[in-house]
Amino acid sequence: TVEQYFRPTKAIIDLGAIRQNVQQLKVHLNEGVKIIAVVKANAYGHGDVAVAQAALEAGATMLAVATADEALHMRKHFPHVEILVLGATPAYFAPYAANERIRLTVFSTDWVQQAAPYLEDTTATLNIHVKIDSGMGRIGVRTEEELKALEAAIIAQPRMQIEGVFTHFATADESQEELFQQQVSIFSQLKSSLQEKPKYVHASNTAAALIKDATLQFDAVRYGISLYGLTPSSYVASIEPFPLHPALSLETELVHVKQLQAGDSVGYGATFVAQEPCWVGTLPIGYADGMIRKLAGQDVLIDGQRMPIIGRICMDQCMVLLSKPYAVGEKVQLIGKQGNEHITLDEWAARVETINYEIPCIFTSRIPRVYR
Ligand code: PLP
Repeated sequence: TVEQYFRPTKAIIDLGAIRQNVQQLKVHLNEGVKIIAVVKANAYGHGDVAVAQAALEAGATMLAVATADEALHMRKHFPHVEILVLGATPAYFAPYAANERIRLTVFSTDWVQQAAPYLEDTTATLNIHVKIDSGMGRIGVRTEEELKALEAAIIAQPRMQIEGVFTHFATADESQEELFQQQVSIFSQLKSSLQEKPKYVHASNTAAALIKDATLQFDAVRYGISLYGLTPSSYVASIEPFPLHPALSLETELVHVKQLQAGDSVGYGATFVAQEPCWVGTLPIGYADGMIRKLAGQDVLIDGQRMPIIGRICMDQCMVLLSKPYAVGEKVQLIGKQGNEHITLDEWAARVETINYEIPCIFTSRIPRVYR
């Protein structure tokens, strides 16, 4: 069924770009290295089901999410794919995970003891990826003693087995190598203290897989931001081995066009006051869509030209200074290409002083995601 939307404001997701990104990323990997597609947070706001489908078609073999609920949602749509929860889950989720063949990240013997009773009534085995905190300071065991105790606790459980061991880098996208190399050596030392090498050793996110030592690809890499055609940082962008293809564009239409006279104002607080007669267009998008007020002043593309948002951004609407009286219904590109101009997600991120990851994550569910 094709969903119908009665709104000209839409995020267009180019699934061909996602497939192309995965294919290129795959060529970049050592023989046999698996791709874990990181589709947490609704695939960084791009729409998890469609993105996961495209990534799997192009060569990913596992999906990673952040929470138990995201994992169950993925399982409903992908009954046979390996799914890993990267974050902490409550112990009472263990039987659901086992029955639904959802891999869990585990980093504490207490958790193992708490989860064990919940698994007594199931015949399924819970697959565990043990998390090592090699320097991120987030979740994970930090010492060999902790790791060995955790391994022993899991081995002692008839309904649990270790399928993976992994870590996450804090500075893989930066030029300074000190903490990165420290994390590499801590991970290497800790993982080799395990009695048995698990099926999946994994460490690299996009940045590490793209620009660091290929031996760190181990058995699998966790590609997130690169699936979406975005680059983790300007440092990575300056040395990345191939161009990625941004998948998301954001568009709307003019819903009202009017002429203002000198002295007329626009928006809450009347922060824009016309100095001379001018044309103003209204866009049906606002901060309740994730177009936050800090984006005031950002350009949009109309007729292949940049035109600025004026005044304060409202909850559902904002206003643009037009170069001439365009018709209602004129297409407006907020993110993406029009003519020779291109407004990137990175441009939005720079304006609001954040990273490109955050921008599509804050687009709310009110913006339809349309797939091409
Ligand atoms: N692995 C873990 C544990 C993560 O938290 C993330 C995302 O933040 C990723 C992999 C994917 O990272 P990236 O989007 O930089 O590729």
